[in-house]
Amino acid sequence: DGTGKFVVGGNWKCNGTIDSIDKLCASLNSGKITADVEVICAPPMVYIDRVQSKLKAPYQIAAQNCWVSKGGAFTGEVSAEMLKDANIPWVILGHSERRSLCGETNEFVGLKTKYALDTGVKVVACIGESLAQREAGDTLNVCFAQLKAIVDCVTEKDWENIIIAYEPVWAIGTGKVATPDQAQEVHAGVRKWMNENVSADVASKVRIQYGGSVNAGNCDELATKPDIDGFLVGGASLDGEAFVKICNSAA
Ligand code: PEP
Repeated sequence: DGTGKFVVGGNWKCNGTIDSIDKLCASLNSGKITADVEVICAPPMVYIDRVQSKLKAPYQIAAQNCWVSKGGAFTGEVSAEMLKDANIPWVILGHSERRSLCGETNEFVGLKTKYALDTGVKVVACIGESLAQREAGDTLNVCFAQLKAIVDCVTEKDWENIIIAYEPVWAIGTGKVATPDQAQEVHAGVRKWMNENVSADVASKVRIQYGGSVNAGNCDELATKPDIDGFLVGGASLDGEAFVKICNSAA
């Protein structure tokens, strides 16, 4: 399994108000993170600065997206340079919602990943198959194609700053969590593919998060699987108590 700390991300997506976000920060700060875990919260861009000033250690901050190249005439976008300048250490890239709703291709996600890393922003890179792809038996091939587009853009050394998030699309926001065995099977397949296509060293070290309807009730069992090195959490990350419980599933 991936070396390094168990790592849990909270993807707040396009949710919240100043009031709800202040309450969430207070709840997170009052929760006890007892596990030896890295925790990364990804608020909506408008609230990032506010959340960054409120959340205490060990919480780190991520953006949910950034632009593919240097900033400039790209209305509505946020550049990796801006994230770096604002001391945002992480960015989530290739989330399935951006792939499916905003038309981000595998190649575009690969280029974004490289640009963010070159700018000094670490990346949570999301991959995962749709229900139709799973039912057609294409799960691993879809994940490998998404990974290959990233591998083609980055160097072996870049993998020190990339977390892979395996998020089956059919499990995201649906309440249909992958079983621990289903998740483990893909995580092990991804690690084997990394061994064959990047290096044994990277394959053994890269952390692979599972994402898709993780909650306070199912996290402990998922966390026992050898190749599950953390979680990326959507819905349950908006509930401070539930999220802290998920973070502590590593203990
Ligand atoms: C996500 O979108 O990253 C996610 C995992 O969502 P949820 O936990 O709500 O399924």
